[in-house]
Amino acid sequence: MKVIETISEMKEFIKENKSDQRTIGLVPTMGFLHDGHVSLLKKSVSENQITVLSIYVNPVQFGPGEDFEKYPRDTKRDMDIAASNKVDAVFLPDSREMYPDGYLTYVNVEKITEKLCGETRPGHFRGVATVVLKLFNIIKPDKAYFGIKDAQQLAVLKRMTRDLNLDTTIVECPIVREKDGLAMSSRNVYLSAQERERALLLSKTLMEAKELFESSCRNVSTTLEFIRDSFLKSEGVSLEYAEILDKDTFQPPGINTASFIALLAARVGKTRLIDNILL
Ligand code: AMP
Repeated sequence: MKVIETISEMKEFIKENKSDQRTIGLVPTMGFLHDGHVSLLKKSVSENQITVLSIYVNPVQFGPGEDFEKYPRDTKRDMDIAASNKVDAVFLPDSREMYPDGYLTYVNVEKITEKLCGETRPGHFRGVATVVLKLFNIIKPDKAYFGIKDAQQLAVLKRMTRDLNLDTTIVECPIVREKDGLAMSSRNVYLSAQERERALLLSKTLMEAKELFESSCRNVSTTLEFIRDSFLKSEGVSLEYAEILDKDTFQPPGINTASFIALLAARVGKTRLIDNILL
């Protein structure tokens, strides 16, 4: 497994592999890998001749006062996980490499970035779209793998790929959960034992909401009310938002909506968690 820290070396690695007609899969992450990330790696390895894992905690997608500095990092452990999952190359750039002095260019996907996480994290998706477009330009992947766990991010990146006529196919991967239902996340390490218990409210509520949605003839407002009520009654968990949207357009559902997605963000103590479910 190659470990590459510079853009020029990464481009050289890609050039050699492209000239040998090898297909390239990219799994972009911020590291501190867990089984959710591993599911993306496994899918990429099964579908491409070369899999590149990128690990970069992108400062541009963090707002002031967010957890950029304390975001969990463990490169040595990540390397072991990557190697044991047959990753061909790990891209580990630093910020001087990604955003050298004088850097001025950002990608702004409009509208769908304004709601949900975009409302409480202004500039977050601009940072995400910018870094992912940079990674696509450096690595030129045939396919790039993203988790539905970050459903709004996925919608933004699919829209960017379509609007900017990018050649990469975005592959959506299902949410990997702990045995008790909690969606895996690098941020789960922030939770104390009591918070970890309380955090189960997110997945439990979404699973119950799915049953209610199905048994109530797909009643969006009843289901949303149920979700919001569950959080009002709870201790130590505060709901930031809960919405049900058309999964494809990321707009409020209409008569043509084929698939619905319920999304929520909540704070458990100081930790902000997100989760969603297809209804
Ligand atoms: P992150 O390192 O949190 O930026 O995540 C990197 C990629 O892994 C993103 O595409 C995430 O959506 C995906 N991911 C994170 N958690 C999970 C999970 N529990 N299941 C599936 N994919 C996930």
